[in-house]
Amino acid sequence: MKTENRIRAIAEDLVEHSYLKTARLIAELIEAQQRVEQLTAELAAAKLAPKRLTNFQTRHNGDYQCPRCGIQRGVQASMTYRQGQHRFDLLQCDTCGFDMDVQY
Ligand SMILES: [Zn+2]
Repeated sequence: MKTENRIRAIAEDLVEHSYLKTARLIAELIEAQQRVEQLTAELAAAKLAPKRLTNFQTRHNGDYQCPRCGIQRGVQASMTYRQGQHRFDLLQCDTCGFDMDVQY
């Protein structure tokens, strides 16, 4: 009987462990599914990049356009000049914050 009790106790411990493992695996699975959705969206955007480049305009209604918004997100976004340093100005996207140096 002592042996049977010991086997039963180990079996119950394993069940308790399985509850913890189940909760951990569910959390990991949700995280993995979110990562798959993120990668799928990034892949779709990457595949569209060449087509977006053919339609990309560097200026629209007189405003310089953000290359990152145009290529990665497929939207037009104006960039604004900011005062730069030492023979460079800064163009910054009003939408995503992307900035780039422009030599003057
Ligand atoms: Zn942008």
